[in-house]
Amino acid sequence: MTTVESPNAPKHFIAQIIDADIASGKWGAPGDQSVVRTRFPPEPNGYLHIGHAKSICLNYGLAELHGGKFFLRFDDTNPVKEEIEYVEAIKRDIKWLGADWDGASGAGLRWASNYFQQLYDWAVELIEKGLAYVCELSGEEVRATRGTPTVPGKASPYRDRPVAESLDLFARMKAGEFADGSKTLRAKIDMASPNFNMRDPVMYRVLHAHHHNTGDAWCVYPMYDWAHGLEDSIEGITHSLCTLEFEDHRPLYNWFIEAINKDRGPGSKWGKTIHHPQQIEFAKLRLTHIMLGKRRLVELVRDKHVRGWDDPRMSTISAFRRRGYTAEAIRSFCDAVGVTKFDSVIDFGRLEEALRDDLNKRAPRRMAVLKPVKLVIENWADGGDAERTEWMEAVNNPEDASAGTRKVPFTRELYIDADDFMVDAPKKFFRLAPGREVRLRYGYWVTCTGYETDEKSGEVTLIRCTYDPQTRGGESPPADAEGHVRKVKGTIHWVSAAHAARAEVRLFDRLWTVEEPDRKPKDAPADWHFTQTMNPDSLEVIADAMVEPALGEDARDAGAQWADGIARFQFERIGYFCVDPDTDASAGKLVFNRTATLKDTWAKVAGKG
Ligand code: ATP
Ligand code: MG
Repeated sequence: MTTVESPNAPKHFIAQIIDADIASGKWGAPGDQSVVRTRFPPEPNGYLHIGHAKSICLNYGLAELHGGKFFLRFDDTNPVKEEIEYVEAIKRDIKWLGADWDGASGAGLRWASNYFQQLYDWAVELIEKGLAYVCELSGEEVRATRGTPTVPGKASPYRDRPVAESLDLFARMKAGEFADGSKTLRAKIDMASPNFNMRDPVMYRVLHAHHHNTGDAWCVYPMYDWAHGLEDSIEGITHSLCTLEFEDHRPLYNWFIEAINKDRGPGSKWGKTIHHPQQIEFAKLRLTHIMLGKRRLVELVRDKHVRGWDDPRMSTISAFRRRGYTAEAIRSFCDAVGVTKFDSVIDFGRLEEALRDDLNKRAPRRMAVLKPVKLVIENWADGGDAERTEWMEAVNNPEDASAGTRKVPFTRELYIDADDFMVDAPKKFFRLAPGREVRLRYGYWVTCTGYETDEKSGEVTLIRCTYDPQTRGGESPPADAEGHVRKVKGTIHWVSAAHAARAEVRLFDRLWTVEEPDRKPKDAPADWHFTQTMNPDSLEVIADAMVEPALGEDARDAGAQWADGIARFQFERIGYFCVDPDTDASAGKLVFNRTATLKDTWAKVAGKG
């Protein structure tokens, strides 16, 4: 994984800060790059989404680039919302992206909950130093006395209680003597600070909750701001990268560490000073037509608006994987969009382009007919036995000669796509129509001599053709007596009816009809709900597609050619597809997901072309 595309590419501002720190020896010997330590600190309360991928690529990429270390740290300080399913999914997704916390640049897996005792001891130290106190205001009272941006907050009546009293109460909070919400430990900072985060923020709350790691050992749980910077400190993180909404929290991040370091040093009864990481904020990744709000993603899954966290229409990393996206494409996209301090929404088309760039080079080509209609070659017996199968040579990937060729069966009866035939075709319709000739890719040239329709629906049910035996492999026929060579404008794909495998094909479209589905419109009616902007046509299931027989074997074997075991293809003229896990190749059940169309059709529809 790389964060810098080329040695000469301009480095983003965080890379520049790190370079300067390495040069000045801020974290170790000047010039020593390996001091760089980063982390990704997910809260296990949902699956990771594409925004998290940016943070993972950034953090891991910087550690790897400098030969430093990368931690995966589960921020499991909140016992209530966390689930093991999420932990496993998060690990799977990070590994898939290529950020290996156990590998050469990894420093292992950590749990914030393993630091509970250390955090508690430091809190006691702050009380002893007169920098924290036990407050008995309710949550509502704390909020009501916080003040406004222009009016200072009101000091808690418990603010100046004796240190011994706070120490005693805090110990009893921990021992479980008090009810949930009845007491908090607050930092004693500045009730008049223009920064709300500094108005005596809560460090601990009483919560009698079972924790997946620490069980019932704790009845007090640390707040995010208190815990996060100290976790960074314990792990020796050098650059603590977070998103812009934490900019206002940076003074508090620093205050907590400085408060612990106060009066520490040689000869101090508190001991040595602790490590002080540098918090740096960057803008979140946002994409058009993509929802990232975690609470809303939870709701989509819970209320079954989608088929699960990995429904290919979701914004989660698991969903992108199931849809056929490659980790390489997501990483190169994250590199390309860069790291800034400015909030912006990036066109989803850029992620799709990164995907097409990757799959165009790597995905083997196959033929699949999504809306099959039968085509019969009436003069097939002209070339020999009417029941014969001819095996045609097809190129696997024109972008990659090493991908070789394969044999595709050609027979008297084929399927072509209903969209490739028109009864009353306009001049510019370069596909098949009565009296017109077209090239069947890697097959023969055929001319339409007639067709049959369904009496009731009028739909075409059969197309009759003749073929030119001199066009084998799709080659041009020889010149006629006057030296003219016949030409065809169109080339279409096909499969042999006798050999084709039946497949289910799932076509996905954007899940949201609006560019910023997370944003509630200013003039939204009272009953507005975010699901109202869902695209009702985001999933089309084709039950009876016909695919070339090789795809039946591919569904079983071709995954081995991809690092993550997911087989991906380009269906000629249609788009990129992958094998869905609902596939059961040995039982003949094939399910393919459309990863992306060949071109950005959606931009065209929206008039953005
Ligand atoms: P919430 O706090 O609402 O549960 P979250 O998305 O912040 O959601 P975390 O698990 O706390 O979830 O996030 C882990 C890390 O990912 C954090 O460091 C956070 O800053 C980063 N992150 C979250 N969303 C994005 C995004 N859209 N772009 C880049 N980084 C992100
Ligand atoms: Mg968060």
